[in-house]
Amino acid sequence: MRACGDPCWICGHDIDATLDARHPLSWTLDHAVPISRGGSLLDPANARSAHRACNSRRGNRSTTAVPQRTSRRW
Ligand SMILES: [Zn+2]
Repeated sequence: MRACGDPCWICGHDIDATLDARHPLSWTLDHAVPISRGGSLLDPANARSAHRACNSRRGNRSTTAVPQRTSRRW
């Protein structure tokens, strides 16, 4: 896995990996090719380090897992 010491690929600044995950400047994993567009979730070449704020500023969806809605009817 990639170390968390990489700079943000969006703004180029270092990322403080010690920040809480909910902090806007905390480290997140951004995908060069969104998973929804066929990007590989497991390919390290598709993963880049980014600030949470920078990542969300791009307009992409969060990289955190989204609960899948079941189509099952109750
Ligand atoms: Zn950044």
